[in-house]
Amino acid sequence: MKNFEYAAPRTEAQVVELLSAAPGRTEILAGGTDLVGLMKKMIVTPELVVNIMNVDSLKVIDQDEDGSVVIGAAVTLDEVLAHPYLGNYPAITDAILGISSMQLQSQGTLGGEVCQRPRCWFFRNGDPLLDQGQVSSGDNRFHAILGNQGPAKFVNSSRISPALIALDAQLRVVGPGEGDEQFLQIEDLFRVPRHAEQRELVLEPNQLVTHVILPSLESRHNATYEVRHGVGPDYPLAAAAAALELDDSGLVQDARVVLGQVAPTPWFSKEAGVALRGRMVNEQTAEMAGVAAVNAATPLSENEYKVQLAKVAVKRAILRAAGFETGGF
Ligand SMILES: Cc1cc2nc3c(=O)[nH]c(=O)nc-3n(C[C@H](O)[C@H](O)[C@H](O)COP(=O)(O)OP(=O)(O)OC[C@H]3O[C@@H](n4cnc5c(N)ncnc54)[C@H](O)[C@@H]3O)c2cc1C
Repeated sequence: MKNFEYAAPRTEAQVVELLSAAPGRTEILAGGTDLVGLMKKMIVTPELVVNIMNVDSLKVIDQDEDGSVVIGAAVTLDEVLAHPYLGNYPAITDAILGISSMQLQSQGTLGGEVCQRPRCWFFRNGDPLLDQGQVSSGDNRFHAILGNQGPAKFVNSSRISPALIALDAQLRVVGPGEGDEQFLQIEDLFRVPRHAEQRELVLEPNQLVTHVILPSLESRHNATYEVRHGVGPDYPLAAAAAALELDDSGLVQDARVVLGQVAPTPWFSKEAGVALRGRMVNEQTAEMAGVAAVNAATPLSENEYKVQLAKVAVKRAILRAAGFETGGF
């Protein structure tokens, strides 16, 4: 590991100030379960590491008067899992349970989970994140099947972000300037990088995610479904989260369906939502939504199998959100 300076500030303003002193040569440290591994492999080599775990404002879970739930970025995954406010958000809690590791759940944070770097094995072995031929002509069985026409062929690894997007969550972000604060729809956090200088998140190096804000659920039914190798701390092969608004007769008023592990960003499938709107949820309509979600897939040489898995994940996430028993994970 390369030598680095370390700071452990106590306020959000101090975090932004420290990150601004050496823009682009810093990293934010939360639970460290992702960052430390990257630093050990010299894939990221910051000069300054800013630990945010002593900032009290980032470690709370609150409920606003309008029923929305506000979760600090440094809240650990097991705290999210156990909190009573999260009882109606199975899309989130199921995704956390899927991590299947007490260690990661107790050390990893919500902000770190959302902001984690891609798991692409070429990148993790020291290659550039963007494809220079190594992915398209190499072992790309776990890579993207959607949004992969450019040099970004990796998949976004976050398990929780598809659920957060389906639930229409927002992020509070502070920086880059002193006193700067903005609220971002979480889907706008992610981008498909087009060149080596662009990261996969839109954040400036001196911006910090401070909170995730979940809107009040009202009538939204939600679920996550993951297609996995098996049980254990490994990433799913494909996943989907669905949040459905049903009227009194069970017709879908609105459906937000987001795929995970299939594209360089969590993949918000408007097509799946359109396929469901105005219909009852059943095997047939859920299947139609699954087909619509993968219609534009462009699999790479080794990953055509993921198209079927993604279709099944969408179908089962929708069925599960509507209260059907699906079996599986
Ligand atoms: C063996 C192993 C298995 C894993 N399995 C899974 C898995 O199955 N599913 C899964 O989702 N993850 C998995 N992970 C990845 C990761 O450890 C977890 O997702 C964890 O929740 C990350 O949180 P952290 O707080 O430890 O992040 P850190 O490692 O501290 O940070 C991760 C990244 O996010 C940035 N960051 C952290 N907080 C913020 C913030 N508030 N604002 C802006 N940027 C921020 C950091 O700079 C860093 O780049 C695994 C990791 C390991 C080592």
